[in-house]
Amino acid sequence: MNTFLSQLHVLQDRIKQAEQRFGRPNGSVTLMAVSKTRTIQDILLAHRAGLHHFGENYLQEALPKLAATKNLDLTWHFIGTPQSNKARLLAEQFAWVHSVNRLSIAESLNALRPTSLPPLNICIQLNVSLEPSKSGITPSALPELVHQIAKLPRLKLRGLMCLPAPSDSFDQQRIGFAKCREAFQHLKPNFPWLDTLSMGSSHDFEAAIAEGATIIRIGTTLFGKRPPLNRSIASPPLQEGPTA
Ligand SMILES: *Cc1c(COP(=O)(O)O)cnc(C)c1O
Repeated sequence: MNTFLSQLHVLQDRIKQAEQRFGRPNGSVTLMAVSKTRTIQDILLAHRAGLHHFGENYLQEALPKLAATKNLDLTWHFIGTPQSNKARLLAEQFAWVHSVNRLSIAESLNALRPTSLPPLNICIQLNVSLEPSKSGITPSALPELVHQIAKLPRLKLRGLMCLPAPSDSFDQQRIGFAKCREAFQHLKPNFPWLDTLSMGSSHDFEAAIAEGATIIRIGTTLFGKRPPLNRSIASPPLQEGPTA
C-alpha cells in the first residue's frame, strides 16, 4: 500500500477509535486535510482516496490549488487569519472561513459573497489560551460578535474554531478544547442551528474529539512532515510507490 493511503487508514482508524472511546456517534467527526505546502498532485491523491474537505491558510498559495480542482467535488476551507484586503477572494473562492476574529472582516465577507453562491460558512475563532493574543476573540467578547454576525444574510454562522497552544499532555490539551465547547454550549440555546466545533490538529485531535470536535484539521499526520517554509507548490509530490 502506498505511503499516503497507509497514513490515511491509520488516521481514520484513530478517529473512529476516539469517537467510540468518547461516546461520539460513528462518523460525527469530519476530517479536513490541511494541504498547505502540499502540491496539487498531493491534493488529487487525497481526493482519489475519498477526502473532500481541504484547508489552506495562505490565500496566495491556495488560489492555484482551488483553480486546479475547480471541477472536482472539493470543499475548500480557509483556516488562516483573514485580511481585509483579501476578503473579496476569500468570499468568492472558499466555501468556509474558519477564523473570523472581528466584525469588520465578517461584514466585508458578507458584502462580497457573490449572490450566485450559497452563503459563506463561518466559524468564529476563539482564543482559548490565557494570554491575550490576536489569534481569536476572547470568550467575553463572543456573544456580541455572534449576535452581530448572525444578522449578516450572506454568511452562515456554523460555530467556533480554536487553535490552542500545543501541549504533550492529553489532559492539558483537553482544557483549551473544553473552553471552546463550553462557549459553544452557552450559545446553542439562542443559536440552535450552530453545528460546528472546528478543533484539533495532528498532535491533539483525540483530545479535541473528546471535547466534541466536529471538524478536525489534519496536515502532518496525513501528508507527512511539512517541507521547510518555502510556501509552496514547488514541494515534491508525495511518494505514490510502494513503501519498504
Ligand atoms: C497547519 C494547520 C493545521 C494542521 O496542523 P498539523 O499539525 O500539520 O496537523 C491545523 N489548523 C491550522 C489553523 C493550521 O494552520
